[in-house]
Amino acid sequence: MAEECIFCRIAAGEIPGDIVYQDEEFVAFRDIAPQAPVHILVIPRRHVSSLVDLTEQQQGLMGCIITLANKLAVEQQVDKSGYRLVLNCGVEGGQIVPHLHLHLIGGRRLSDQLG
Ligand code: AMP
Repeated sequence: MAEECIFCRIAAGEIPGDIVYQDEEFVAFRDIAPQAPVHILVIPRRHVSSLVDLTEQQQGLMGCIITLANKLAVEQQVDKSGYRLVLNCGVEGGQIVPHLHLHLIGGRRLSDQLG
């Protein structure tokens, strides 16, 4: 765990988060500033700063995170209407929190614009 990392601290239960799922490896919680009716962040418990820091040994991690996001999309009833999974990487990629996270966004018609 990275002591200063806000997402590590949410995963550890040190600061409150609106957690919708957790297991030994992953935690999913509602975004504090939701961009849509459903806006959930899926994170690995183990601190990885960014997508760019993923090692070859960790290549299976993203598959697990996407599979979990898909299950949450069903639970949140946006699987039929559609949803978007977003990974921001680095400053120009729009990443603000330096702990790898996947955004699950849905529940409204999303913009066609990617950036
Ligand atoms: P990103 O721009 O991809 O780094 O997204 C970071 C996301 O984390 C933003 O959508 C923030 O609203 C969200 N966020 C920041 N702090 C918290 C928090 N304490 N609990 C839940 N979501 C947060």
